[in-house]
Amino acid sequence: MLIAELRALGVRPGGILLVHTALSRVGCGPGELIEALLAVLGDAGTLVMPSMADDDDVPFDRASMSCRAVGLLADTFWRMPGVLRSDNPHAFAALGPQAKYITQPHPIDIPHGVDSPPSRVYDLAGSVLLLGVGHDCNTTLHVAEAIAGVRYRQPKYATVMENGRPRRYEYGETDHCCEKFALLDDWLGQRQRRGRVGSAQARLFQSRDAVAAAVARLRKDESVFLHPAGECGECDLARAGAAGFQL
Ligand SMILES: [Zn+2]
Repeated sequence: MLIAELRALGVRPGGILLVHTALSRVGCGPGELIEALLAVLGDAGTLVMPSMADDDDVPFDRASMSCRAVGLLADTFWRMPGVLRSDNPHAFAALGPQAKYITQPHPIDIPHGVDSPPSRVYDLAGSVLLLGVGHDCNTTLHVAEAIAGVRYRQPKYATVMENGRPRRYEYGETDHCCEKFALLDDWLGQRQRRGRVGSAQARLFQSRDAVAAAVARLRKDESVFLHPAGECGECDLARAGAAGFQL
C-alpha cells in the first residue's frame, strides 16, 4: 500500500530523495516506511534524511548521538546497516549510490548553507518529500536563504571536540520560526505534487524548484519568511541578529 502511494505521488526509481517525516501521522512503523521508500527508489536511488544532534551540550558522535528531535523515522534510519551519516552536529544520513557525496564533511557554520547535505541534494537535482509535515520542516529552504545571502541570524551553539577536548562553539544560524515557509505551497503550485501516504498528507517537489521559487522572493524581500517585528519571538531573535541593519 505505501509503495503504491509513493509511486502514485511521483517517487521514481533511481532518484535522490530527501525525506522529512512525522511518522505518527503516517500511521506505520519506521521499518515499514523505510522499506517502502527503498523499494520505490531501487538500488540506483539514494534516500536521505536529516540526522541532527539531539544534544548541543555534548560533542557530536555520529556513531551514537540520537536525532529524535527530527523524528523516529530519521532516528531509525541512521542506525541501519550501510547508511552513512555526516560527521557534524547538523548531520544528514544517506543510503545509496550518492550517499558518500551527500554526507561528505560540511561546515558547522552556517548549517544548511551552500556546502551542506541538502545543498548537495539540490546540486544533484534531487527531490524532497514531506510526509505529515509542512514546509516549516523543509530544510532545503535554508539553502535558498544562503544562496540569496539573507543577513538574519539566530544565536546558536554546538559542542565540538578540539584537540581532544569539548569546546562550545557559538555561531549565527539562518533560522527563525519557519512558519512562513508554508508560502511555498502557493509558490510551487503545480510544481508540487500532493497526495496521501498512509494517513499522512504528502508533498513532493524538486529541490531546485523550491530553491528557485524561494530565492526569487528573497531577492525582492529579504524578510519574506520573517513574521513582522513584534509578532514572533523567534523571528524577532533572527532580526536582532542581523547586525548593523534594520530588517
Ligand atoms: Zn516567526
